[in-house]
Amino acid sequence: MREAAERAFREGRTMYADPAGLPELRADVLRWLGVEDRYTPDEVVITAGAKQSLFNVFLAACNPADCVLFDAAPWVSYQPLAVAAYAFPVQVLPTRPESRMKVSADDLRRNLDLRPYTKLFLLNNPCNPTAQLYSADEVEELLQVCVERRVYFVLDRLYWRIVFDGVPFPEPRVDDETRPWLVQIDGLSKNFRRSGGLRIGWTVAPPDLARAMVNLQSHYTSGPSTPVQHAALAALESPYPTGLREELEAKRDRIRAWAPKLAGVDVWPTPATFYSFWDVRGALGTRTPDGRVIRGSIDLATWLVERAGVVTAAGAAFLQEGYLRVSFAVPDEELEGGLAAAAEAFAELA
Ligand code: PLP
Repeated sequence: MREAAERAFREGRTMYADPAGLPELRADVLRWLGVEDRYTPDEVVITAGAKQSLFNVFLAACNPADCVLFDAAPWVSYQPLAVAAYAFPVQVLPTRPESRMKVSADDLRRNLDLRPYTKLFLLNNPCNPTAQLYSADEVEELLQVCVERRVYFVLDRLYWRIVFDGVPFPEPRVDDETRPWLVQIDGLSKNFRRSGGLRIGWTVAPPDLARAMVNLQSHYTSGPSTPVQHAALAALESPYPTGLREELEAKRDRIRAWAPKLAGVDVWPTPATFYSFWDVRGALGTRTPDGRVIRGSIDLATWLVERAGVVTAAGAAFLQEGYLRVSFAVPDEELEGGLAAAAEAFAELA
């Protein structure tokens, strides 16, 4: 991947390129997603990371004040990106407490009934921060609602290669019925090592929406840097690196082994991603040894940094107070040391 980018620089392949992205990269994206027989490269837009794909979709699909629906724990940038596109973000809350924040077709329907100006429902599967995975049936039901109600079903599938326990990624149905409403967002940043800073993402969308997004980005970024697109081309044309998912699955198992030692924490099962989601409502209202009250997830995250040197993301950042998200994409020694220190810090809260 790096060599390909270096070569492109050295050979002077640094001119303006097609604002939609290199045609050969767009063709590779379709193969990577296994949909090369159902789309043409004109329905693919290469972007500067999945973030730009998301922003493009909000800008291209929404009129000012149109509603965009997110699932129950929206990733931190969803809201700011929607607001920057003058859209109105709404979090769909699940009615089934046992669903681990997964939204059902009925939850979605109810929100669509309440908000006729909704343009899209954005689903992150597998989900950052909760690490939960919607099954193929659950995805199909949500997609079906979107098709019936004529709203876009935007699938952010950025972690789709990091699904554990031999479970296949639940692909959305792509056929004549779903294609006009299905938008898929993906990129290099999570499924490949050390690639978040390359800033390459992509969107596969219905032709009119794809065209609008290309027009738009032709005016604001002209597409991502061409040598980096050559790096992406090399990544997608090489065999997918084995070992990444297995390595992360082993780290997931390490956390699972620590879970009973974390007082007041309910560690959620982690079927996918490299995040462990902790229900810490049991630790709220406790006090640190120096008398400070832990009122919410931000206080707790601050305590863990101060006392244990462990950085977590507060659930409040994902509109879910009472939870913490822990990334386990770190070397094993750091993971073990961090978990031991966190367990001690939790034990000190009274
Ligand atoms: N979507 C989700 C769910 C993410 O977790 C992230 C990054 O953390 C992004 C989108 C943005 O990805 P990128 O770095 O490719 O812009």
